[in-house]
Amino acid sequence: MLVSEMDVMTPIDLQDCLHILHTSTNYETRIIAGGTDAVVRMKDEKWLPALWINIKDLNELRFIQEVKDEIHIGALSTHTDIVQSPLLTKKADVLVQAAKEVGATQMQNMGTLGGNVATASPAGDTIPALYVLSAKIEATSLDGVRHIPIEEFFIGPGKTTLKRNELITKIILRKQLENEVGVFEKLGPRKAQSISIVNFACSIVMEDGRKCLGGKMAFGSVAPTVIRAKKCESMLTLDELNGEMIQNIAKVAWKEVAPITDVRATASYRRDMASALLERGLIRLMTRWNHR
Ligand SMILES: Cc1cc2nc3c(=O)[nH]c(=O)nc-3n(C[C@H](O)[C@H](O)[C@H](O)COP(=O)(O)OP(=O)(O)OC[C@H]3O[C@@H](n4cnc5c(N)ncnc54)[C@H](O)[C@@H]3O)c2cc1C
Repeated sequence: MLVSEMDVMTPIDLQDCLHILHTSTNYETRIIAGGTDAVVRMKDEKWLPALWINIKDLNELRFIQEVKDEIHIGALSTHTDIVQSPLLTKKADVLVQAAKEVGATQMQNMGTLGGNVATASPAGDTIPALYVLSAKIEATSLDGVRHIPIEEFFIGPGKTTLKRNELITKIILRKQLENEVGVFEKLGPRKAQSISIVNFACSIVMEDGRKCLGGKMAFGSVAPTVIRAKKCESMLTLDELNGEMIQNIAKVAWKEVAPITDVRATASYRRDMASALLERGLIRLMTRWNHR
């Protein structure tokens, strides 16, 4: 496709963008932010909207702020912004670890958190981290603002509850507690620039020693959307998180995930790897906690 064959509008501010979305619901439009997903699919002729809406320069959507007991991240914040944020490193370490694993440096510099969420890939690396941080997606239109809990946002691969006239404006997270530690683990087909075969995020609240007070776990690429591992979570408080307990939780993970076979991996390999990533993640978490 030639660039001259595309219609692109570049709104000057958020209101302008919402107005364009509002007045164009009777034909297909698509937002372009960092373009790392959009350009690939445009070239493959999978995404051919009548109008592209280029929001990359809406700087009002690029921020990371502490607001009472929450953290607000503007949708246009890049993965590099997240990796370099002292606030997120301290209060949302699991998201920082996930953002570090998104492709290579170029992807992290261009790709945005809003774009990773809106693409709604079951393998999207930031999404399991957002699940364990109880994220809410802020969707804004001229009709108003909605805060959608992340677990209600995804319907299936590439499908979300975002309406045609809505833009993701921010992602809202809870802050991790002082005694809470997180970990993100990823298995990809190669070291960098690769979509996850399985990914795993976990954030747990610890007492002194190895006693866990509870936590959240989520897997990507093992179901049509990212899933919470609630049976595994319920085991976190049964006993001290020693090697044997971690292995028992990993065995339950093997049963709890529901992967499919596709070009990247078989279902049974994904089950084995989900279990292994959970075991490795919890061992790393306990090592970090004991050396804090
Ligand atoms: C080589 C390569 C490697 C990659 N590796 C990884 C990886 O390891 N892990 C991973 O998770 N992803 C990976 N990706 C995918 C991609 O880089 C990320 O998903 C990125 O975060 C997308 O952000 P973006 O700003 O570039 O989105 P864009 O490409 O601009 O947009 C993606 C989609 O989101 C929509 N969108 C964007 N912003 C908004 C908004 N604010 N409101 C509503 N809709 C919006 C667009 O309309 C479009 O449908 C890779 C991509 C490539 C090309």
